[in-house]
Amino acid sequence: MSASTAIVTGSTSGIGLAIAETLAEAGYNILLNGFGDPTEITEIAESLRHDYGVEAHHSPADMSVPEEIETMVAEGHARFGSVDVLVNNAGIQHTAAVEEFPRDRWDQILAINLSSNFHAIQAALPIMRAQGAGRIVNVSSVHGHVGSVQKAAYVAAKHGVLGLTKVVALETANSAITCNAVCPGWVRTPLVQKQIDAFAAREQVSEDEAITRMLGEKQPSRNFVTPRQIGQAVLYLCSEAASEIRGSTINVDGGWLAQ
Ligand code: NAD
Repeated sequence: MSASTAIVTGSTSGIGLAIAETLAEAGYNILLNGFGDPTEITEIAESLRHDYGVEAHHSPADMSVPEEIETMVAEGHARFGSVDVLVNNAGIQHTAAVEEFPRDRWDQILAINLSSNFHAIQAALPIMRAQGAGRIVNVSSVHGHVGSVQKAAYVAAKHGVLGLTKVVALETANSAITCNAVCPGWVRTPLVQKQIDAFAAREQVSEDEAITRMLGEKQPSRNFVTPRQIGQAVLYLCSEAASEIRGSTINVDGGWLAQ
């Protein structure tokens, strides 16, 4: 039997990269996706092949363009012969008050953080139905459950992801296809580093002080969640043990949502 295949969007950095590594370690062939330096992306694919003995390739599809998303899923299927796991992880952030929020940033965040999930699922589901099985994991956020100031587009998109997750789970409930979400709290990735830098500049404090205050405000453990911990949560949702978890969320958030 050929190895299973996972498509992980936004996997050239941060959480997506850790998800790709965790799934590769578990034996999945990986279709990487995301932006970045071409040499670095080639090196990521090479190290997945070398370290885990799996196949790894990169799709440059832009998650704000539906046709490119469709092509990415078709390419993964054609290259590897199956699409067993789809992880919708690509995401961006922009912070501003609602009155000042730029319209183009709103549209871009909704497209990449929410609509791309829909387009990828729409492309992958017929393949999964023909296979008779599949796992879809959407990377939402604590902001899929609660709000924070200055994050209107992000919070709206991440709430939307949880709604989409439930509907897809219901529409696939009589099959061996599941759809669930993982909701991370603060994870120290480039996306969050920008917010740390902005906090430090705004409050005129050191990076360490900015981190202490940002974690202190929201995340009771006072620790960052690690990208690898998100990868492990995704791997669990892809396991046999999770076959009856449907339309659900795993919050990996240092206690953020328990408050
Ligand atoms: P990151 O900036 O490190 O990585 C984002 C990835 O998405 C990169 O690979 C980037 O190239 C890719 N990407 C961005 N725009 C794209 C586009 N148009 N098309 C294709 N790929 C694109 O960010 P991260 O922190 O690893 O975030 C990954 C996911 O986790 C996002 O959905 C984010 O909302 C979510 N998340 C992050 C945190 C956190 O604290 N870091 C918390 C909760 C949820």
